[in-house]
Amino acid sequence: MLYIVHTTGKCNLRCKYCGGSFPPQLVPWSPRYDPRLLKELVESDPDAILAFYGGEPLLNAPFVMWALDNIEARHYVIQTNGTLNHLLPPEYWRRFDTVLLSIDGVEWLTDKYRGHGVYRRVVSEARRLRRIGFTGDLIARMAVTEDSDIYRDVKHLLSLGPFSHVHWQLDVVWSDRWRSFPRWRDEIYLPGLERLASEWLDAMAHGEVWGIAPFKAVMSQILWGVYEGMPCGAGRDAVSILTDGRIVACPIAVSEEWALLGRLGEATPDDLRDRVPVGEPCTSCPYYRVCGGRCLYAYKERFWGDEGFREVCRATQGFIDLMLRAAPEVRRLLSGGIVKKENLYYPPFNNTVEVIP
Ligand code: SF4
Ligand code: SF4
Repeated sequence: MLYIVHTTGKCNLRCKYCGGSFPPQLVPWSPRYDPRLLKELVESDPDAILAFYGGEPLLNAPFVMWALDNIEARHYVIQTNGTLNHLLPPEYWRRFDTVLLSIDGVEWLTDKYRGHGVYRRVVSEARRLRRIGFTGDLIARMAVTEDSDIYRDVKHLLSLGPFSHVHWQLDVVWSDRWRSFPRWRDEIYLPGLERLASEWLDAMAHGEVWGIAPFKAVMSQILWGVYEGMPCGAGRDAVSILTDGRIVACPIAVSEEWALLGRLGEATPDDLRDRVPVGEPCTSCPYYRVCGGRCLYAYKERFWGDEGFREVCRATQGFIDLMLRAAPEVRRLLSGGIVKKENLYYPPFNNTVEVIP
């Protein structure tokens, strides 16, 4: 099971997507529980993945170091804005399996949403992580808005060098409405994905698998089945532990009642599993096996209403159709030995990449 641990509710940036720190009365800025309870819960699960989250998790770097030193887990992950990496010594960085750095694409775009100078800091930190010997999966984690050009931004991040994967999430449903999501989807997003997918396949024909995380993960689901239901695991086998000791189904659902699963010290991993089911319209949707409902938070909250929910579904379905069309060619490349399963299969464990953007 995946345990996402908020080390703090505080953040040093004020990105336009989330506006910065959580109010401390909602997510206190340091853990208010006995950390031995966290150790007990995580170590009672032989397949535990421990992921650090915030706020900005490195604002509580001592807690991250304590957990890495004291909590046994199968895998370690951190999602950070990449501006405070110096707070963790190199030997700790080398212990992560996966590091996700937030960056949205080209420089002006990243800085418009995350703050002036953020792009340069993140890129230089990404390069530094490789220099200090981090050999794990380094993921550029994009938030995608109506200013994003998915083709331009994914290609740009892949070209930088240090990132092994690029992943994105659409900034929809929990954010304000876009000027026109349907227009952006039909004129920029889906055509951009089509162009990317075509180049991705061309590269694969030469045995090279570009690290476009949603492509690899959806293709893996089509070919082999990686997950069941919600791809991020929310409500099923991923939980978030807030700084006040509450355990919730999704890391951003910090005050929603449907998300509350229990409290640290009172719940076992089995109590937390399979707790928030997904129903209609997803369970009878023909795309459900791959989409899984996309995002439990969006499914539950529907800030854009049912019509807005369906508009996002059209983006998901267009993307899945693209991968379904590419699947026979990918199968051919696999059976011809041109592409190896181990290079395509993704994610190798739930590394917090939500699969469906
Ligand atoms: S495409 Fe929409 S309706 Fe279909 S499974 Fe995904 S979220 Fe649910
Ligand atoms: S995809 Fe949605 S439900 Fe899953 S972790 Fe992200 S916000 Fe929560």
